[in-house]
Amino acid sequence: MANTKHYTELGLTNTRDIFKKAMAGGYAIPAYNFNNMEQLQGIIIGCVESKSPVILQVSGSARKYADPTFLPYMAMGAVQMVKALGAGIPITLHLDHGNTFELAKSCIDSGFSSVMLDGSHHPFEENAALTRQVVDYAHEREVTVEGELGVLAGVEDEVSHEVSHYTKPEEVEAFVEKTSVDSLAISIGTSHGAHKFKVKPGEEVPPLRFDILEEIEKRVPGFPIVLHGASSIEPEYVKMINAYGGKMDDAVGIPAEQLRRAAQSAVCKINIDSDGRLAMTAMIRKVFAENPAEFDPRKYLGSARDELIKMVKYKNEKVLGSANKA
Ligand SMILES: [Zn+2]
Repeated sequence: MANTKHYTELGLTNTRDIFKKAMAGGYAIPAYNFNNMEQLQGIIIGCVESKSPVILQVSGSARKYADPTFLPYMAMGAVQMVKALGAGIPITLHLDHGNTFELAKSCIDSGFSSVMLDGSHHPFEENAALTRQVVDYAHEREVTVEGELGVLAGVEDEVSHEVSHYTKPEEVEAFVEKTSVDSLAISIGTSHGAHKFKVKPGEEVPPLRFDILEEIEKRVPGFPIVLHGASSIEPEYVKMINAYGGKMDDAVGIPAEQLRRAAQSAVCKINIDSDGRLAMTAMIRKVFAENPAEFDPRKYLGSARDELIKMVKYKNEKVLGSANKA
């Protein structure tokens, strides 16, 4: 690759120190997905204003959308903006759901400081071998790696599964040992997308399997655990979207109390994608509905960015506990 650069040249950090501090402090680092400028700025400003470390994450298709050459410079722009604001929050650029060695390598070579290799759809041995291959390449360059055991239900950019398969705690030790991964995504009942559970109005969503999480913590004490599919699908945004012409009737997510409990455990990273999408979509719909003649993108994208800042601050302060930890 002609344009090879190391993440330190962009001013980014890997996840080693931030996870160590999160583990000791009983909170989780937010990992927000982005693919455009307003999302990126909303996330960064929200994290600066709440003084939180942040993991900026992109899926393979989000990287393609933003352009693989352009993307690292977006992260670099975020780092420079944070400096200009006089804030010193650590910023990680992370590949979400990498599915091949080549994709992970390409991200590492272009300046990512952390990558996920999701081999969870493969049998254990294949998953471990593929993850190990990425770890070997990544660790030579001080890049950290997230693996995955167990399958989440739901639909995300790179993954789609009908049913979830909970992580088997008895496989975790061997996987961590064989692969030398730095963190592990597990499946305990969270789910990708905006329609996480099929419940009737007023019905409770099924609780996360904290018993599995506790069993995993016992087997690999102090090892950083990651929760995917952990958006709450904030009802106020779903309501707004529906009120302004959208249609998201049975959207439900993970209640904030359960995420708070997870953040205090070995869970060091909580992924939030859908909630950011909902916040922006709700505001864009509102602006268009109330101002049908509006055609300046700054008016609707600017409102969307402002709402995302609010949402990020709320998550960091009230759910993950990462505020004031930068
Ligand atoms: Zn995911």
